[in-house]
Amino acid sequence: MINLILFGPPGSGKGTQAAKIVDQYQLVHISTGDLFRYEMGNDTPLGMKAKDYMAKGELVPDSITIGMLRNKVEAHPDARGFIFDGFPRTIPQAEALDILLAELGTEVSGLIALYVDDEEIVYRIRLRGATSGRPDDSDERIIRNRISIYKNETTPVFDYYQKQDKSHTINGIGTMGDIFDRLTGIIETWEKKSGD
Ligand code: ADP
Repeated sequence: MINLILFGPPGSGKGTQAAKIVDQYQLVHISTGDLFRYEMGNDTPLGMKAKDYMAKGELVPDSITIGMLRNKVEAHPDARGFIFDGFPRTIPQAEALDILLAELGTEVSGLIALYVDDEEIVYRIRLRGATSGRPDDSDERIIRNRISIYKNETTPVFDYYQKQDKSHTINGIGTMGDIFDRLTGIIETWEKKSGD
């Protein structure tokens, strides 16, 4: 199995690239942000719980997020692998993911971080906010809050997988095709290993 953690700050292009990787490798794409938005759109109890945190650009508590992720993974017993997009965002989430995948007899293949600087992120998210209808995309204070939460709470996840020799960084600026080539260059090396 290939289990990729697509990592990077909000607005770094994870969702766009995930869609292209899914086409190429037939992996199941799990975006925790999309899952929360779906729940919110349907006014489910889970959506109600997530709503205020998301509106402020804060992280939804781990207990809620980890349970949702586990359900989604377990709903795909025949998957060839997963792309985790927006998860894990904290160390407890990373530990929970490692445990879950170990239960399934597999593991994280690697984490790839898209590097994009802060000003480019703010620019991209505001542009997206014009059409996405996402309230957390249209207020610069909330965007900057998300960036600072990423730096404080989420970047430790990079170091966590670095200790397992699994973390990689690529330049997240360039054409969609350029960035895709950078990603697949790394994923191909895992494919070779998993084929051994
Ligand atoms: P972006 O990558 O642009 O921040 P996402 O769709 O990944 O957008 O996330 C939107 C919001 O959903 C986050 O700001 C947070 O409130 C919530 N969220 C998504 N994933 C997680 C997670 N793994 N842990 C906690 N909160 C999350």
